[in-house]
Amino acid sequence: MASKSDRDYAKEDIVVHWRPELCQHCENCITGLPEVFKLKARPWVNLYGADRDTIAKQINQCPKNEEGKSALSYTMIGADEEERCTSCQRPVSVCGELGNFEGYAGTIENQCSDCISDRAMEE
Ligand code: SF4
Ligand SMILES: [Zn+2]
Repeated sequence: MASKSDRDYAKEDIVVHWRPELCQHCENCITGLPEVFKLKARPWVNLYGADRDTIAKQINQCPKNEEGKSALSYTMIGADEEERCTSCQRPVSVCGELGNFEGYAGTIENQCSDCISDRAMEE
């Protein structure tokens, strides 16, 4: 559900989506990348404090709720040519090498290591 306090912050190659009602106040963002996430600044997200991939990696540390949604998320711009994890859809430059997951239900191709370990835990 979109809410009135939701914000999108954009620069040339990334859009960061902020859904404050989902924030769990873990402080991963402000301690992990203080050049970008500054609680007291307005706007509190400064996308020029780091490059796209650094910002994306930090946002991946924003905890997800039971529906898999997190307060911070992002959309890459101009990364369409890049190969992506078939599960989380992150480009290889962010999620690292892709591999295949061999599970009970068969093989799932081109998964990042995060998604492979998530699946391994589920089985
Ligand atoms: S990492 Fe996500 S949940 Fe944690 S404080 Fe930042 S926005 Fe909130
Ligand atoms: Zn993945």
